[in-house]
Amino acid sequence: MYSSESRNRFARSEAGLSLSHDSREVQLPVSVQIGLQCGCQLTPGRRMSVNADSTEPLWMPRVAVVGAGISGLICARRLQEQGFQVTVFEKSRSSSGRAATRRVDLSLSFDHGAQYFTVRDPLFSQFVEAWVERGIVAVWTGRIVDIDGRTARPKTDQPVRYVGVPGMTAMARHLAASAAVQFETRITRLDRGENDWTLTDSAERTHGPFDHVVMSLPAPQTADLIPGHILEDVVRAVPMTPCWAVLMGFERRIELAWDGAFVQNSPLAWLARNSSKPGRDKSVDCWVLHASPTWSAAHQEDEPQLVQETLQAEFAQLTGSRLPPSIHFAAHRWLFSATPLSLDQQALFDPQSGLVVCGDWLASGRVEGAFRSGVAAADCLIGQIVRDSR
Ligand SMILES: Cc1cc2nc3c(=O)[nH]c(=O)nc-3n(C[C@H](O)[C@H](O)[C@H](O)COP(=O)(O)OP(=O)(O)OC[C@H]3O[C@@H](n4cnc5c(N)ncnc54)[C@H](O)[C@@H]3O)c2cc1C
Repeated sequence: MYSSESRNRFARSEAGLSLSHDSREVQLPVSVQIGLQCGCQLTPGRRMSVNADSTEPLWMPRVAVVGAGISGLICARRLQEQGFQVTVFEKSRSSSGRAATRRVDLSLSFDHGAQYFTVRDPLFSQFVEAWVERGIVAVWTGRIVDIDGRTARPKTDQPVRYVGVPGMTAMARHLAASAAVQFETRITRLDRGENDWTLTDSAERTHGPFDHVVMSLPAPQTADLIPGHILEDVVRAVPMTPCWAVLMGFERRIELAWDGAFVQNSPLAWLARNSSKPGRDKSVDCWVLHASPTWSAAHQEDEPQLVQETLQAEFAQLTGSRLPPSIHFAAHRWLFSATPLSLDQQALFDPQSGLVVCGDWLASGRVEGAFRSGVAAADCLIGQIVRDSR
């Protein structure tokens, strides 16, 4: 995939920025740093490759984006707006990654990944405002508490919490509608030729050639796909913790004075009445429980049935509730849920090979981090084209 010669060439570069974790120190060579947080600004809506006076054919860089979560899709959209030819590859049948909704039937749906999102970044704020206007996103006014032991106290900080409507997948679905996404295509290998990239999927089909590749997966999954590349070590050094989610639908409403709870000192870390979110069916009382990172890691290999029963019992004890008969009951394990590190690299870029790495884990996690990282990844490539054209 990558020749040892190119690996040695990269290894000789002078070391620059470093990333520390578990007493391992990962050095990022200077050539990679050039692209970090390049954040170049282009006039919105103007294509860099269009030159009205030129008779030369337009050069439209070909980009493969691996992953159709929020980061990959916003990156694809930003590149497309600037005239890049973008193809997104997604292993699942639909987009959205960890901002996921499991729809069991019309009245039963569960946001079993991201629960809601908050907004600080000005560009993200513009997008969210537009999504609110179009009904893709709404404010969740659920009552949120902190629970420690059996005591529930209203949370003191109450940021505006947004959710996708009718599920958390709404934002990604909207972004994917204007992108060329190849679903059910799991990329298993990247090959860098002299000037371009070829991708291979799990059915041994090849895709390409591409001038650039953007990886937008959780860090461990990206690291596995770039063995020997200059960015592999820095990406592999980022740990991601698992999270068990339990999805429960009840015949009758559980009478509690709150809709969401952050839990301390328990196997559970978060409880949410999914049906209290805007645009959800209210006829079934749907709940999502998230186990803490520590509990999830300790029980990573447990059977889903055992996880369901254990966490449901914990929920009943915490809330002091006698639970009504359940209509639906399932557990889902997120293997790479979040990183405990607080990184703000936004995106990693190796201009020599044309590889960009993005994902929430590079920008403080969460939906907003995924958005910011996807934007930064696109801006790395746009910035390079602008520099090359000078
Ligand atoms: C349990 C849980 C709770 C969370 N709670 C919140 C919250 O309350 N608020 C918040 O803001 N954020 C929350 N998050 C985080 C939020 O979901 C993520 O930050 C965000 O969705 C990450 O987007 P992404 O595009 O970076 O990655 P992902 O969403 O992981 O997207 C990666 C995509 O790549 C695809 N893929 C993987 N491997 C391949 C391959 N080989 N080939 C092709 N495609 C591939 C995946 O299927 C996926 O669609 C939570 C996450 C989890 C798991």
